[in-house]
Amino acid sequence: EIDVRGLHKSFGANEVLKGIDLEINQGEVVCVIGPSGSGKSTLLRCVNLLEEPTKGQVFVGGTELTDPDVDIDAVRRRIGMVFQQFNLFPHLTVTENLTLPQRRVLRRDKAQAAKVAAENLERVGLSEKASAYPASLSGGQQQRVAIARALAMGPEVMLFDEPTSALDPELVGDVLAVMRMLARDGMTMMVVTHEMTFAREVADRVVFMDGGVIVEDGTPEQVIGNPRHERTRHFLSRLL
Ligand code: ATP
Ligand code: MG
Repeated sequence: EIDVRGLHKSFGANEVLKGIDLEINQGEVVCVIGPSGSGKSTLLRCVNLLEEPTKGQVFVGGTELTDPDVDIDAVRRRIGMVFQQFNLFPHLTVTENLTLPQRRVLRRDKAQAAKVAAENLERVGLSEKASAYPASLSGGQQQRVAIARALAMGPEVMLFDEPTSALDPELVGDVLAVMRMLARDGMTMMVVTHEMTFAREVADRVVFMDGGVIVEDGTPEQVIGNPRHERTRHFLSRLL
């Protein structure tokens, strides 16, 4: 579903991604771990072309995003993204946050957008907050709204960049529970996270990045449970 081939990304003279090859199959959940500055966010952002790769190819659902002739807006609609910061529109209610992009980008009519919004708020357990404004919600609830907003666009794949890092510890579980549900429902997911328990229990594969390369790629049992590389062991030992 996601296919990254020979991906390089430089910012000026700073080569941040130094040849990434990564395949994620439909329905697979891949967690990306690694130290700060290793290029995790840059990799994720290259997968929906928020960053333009310097070299290499990115395919999503068989479409090459790096093809200069591709309609990138059309491809982006198939990719949901959730960030550390929730980026909700503060002046809009929860429902309006979900309906606005559907109407603007997908041209859904009001009734259809409202129906899809309600369905997805229910999925994340926030039906009762439909008329609330973001500021009245906890961080965990805001992040679940952000997930529902991405889901309302009907994405084929979901990208998460440290979705729980900005949350108070007691709010992390509710967001991870929503992500578990998505994984169980067969969503293709690429998740940058420091939540090793989530990675162990939910990921089909764990990818360890360091210095702009993939150092290890395997099952959670292999990469977290029994890392082959010293760099991976060192990273994990500092986390635990
Ligand atoms: P963290 O765990 O701290 O989020 P990361 O693995 O996500 O780190 P990236 O954000 O991908 O790391 O950054 C990798 C490197 O790329 C860093 O050295 C960073 O300074 C650099 N970088 C990222 N974005 C830009 C940019 N827009 N312009 C210049 N340099 C950038
Ligand atoms: Mg990052």
